[in-house]
Amino acid sequence: MKNKLLEIINLNKVYHTEKNDVLALENISFDVYENEFISIVGPSGCGKSTILSILANLEDKTDGNIIFFKDLSIGYMLQDDCLFFWKSILDNCLVGLEITGKLNNESKNYVLDLLKTYGLYEFKDMYPASLSGGMRQRVALIRTLALKPDILLLDEPMSALDSQSRLAIGEDIYNIIKKEGKTAIMVTHDLSEALSMSDKVIVLSKRPGVVKKVCDIQLDGKSTPIKNRSSKNFSKYYEMIWRDLDVHI
Ligand code: ADP
Repeated sequence: MKNKLLEIINLNKVYHTEKNDVLALENISFDVYENEFISIVGPSGCGKSTILSILANLEDKTDGNIIFFKDLSIGYMLQDDCLFFWKSILDNCLVGLEITGKLNNESKNYVLDLLKTYGLYEFKDMYPASLSGGMRQRVALIRTLALKPDILLLDEPMSALDSQSRLAIGEDIYNIIKKEGKTAIMVTHDLSEALSMSDKVIVLSKRPGVVKKVCDIQLDGKSTPIKNRSSKNFSKYYEMIWRDLDVHI
């Protein structure tokens, strides 16, 4: 039986600006289960990032409920790696632990182990400028994992990368999240990326974002993201969801 971690019920969000009120989200409902990889897709401006900001408690919801089935910690990884250029890779990875007063020998060793496991240990004393964009995203993920979050929120984590690195880092991020046994909610505008990585894809309409479809992805011979793209029924899901995306060419 799958363990439910979160239930999001009829979430609404209105942004109040000097000029007007912007209804960004309308009656958003979905469940999040342990170890699930969920993607939220939809056209630009439909409220994808707003959902993550509300879950991370960075924005207030206007209406609706979010039920936490246990005490959950949440990690948030943004598009931009947001690494401090004057800090070494190791010190960047320790920033969250430092700020939250959780830096000790044990937590530092955990970070060093993550750096070893994910091929970054030999770069630990270097500075972000000497790493590729993809490596920096891996550092950003390790910095987020350092705090041992139960749920990872990923806001377009590969969008700043070129298409080759994007595939490779998507593969890395997916493998790290699965190996560490995390639950993830990723926002992306790239449907192939969403399908190749996710157990469940949530399709939002254009603003105000409403849930148009929640689709469980059951690819034949499900494997890692790059291999999943050549799964027999990948294109079936692509066509089915593409039709629901309010994208105008
Ligand atoms: P997406 O991530 O799907 O591109 P966002 O969640 O960033 O969409 O934004 C949803 C809508 O809410 C957009 O129309 C955006 O302009 C508006 N919005 C986002 N943040 C604010 C804000 N702080 N104040 C006013 N409007 C906002």
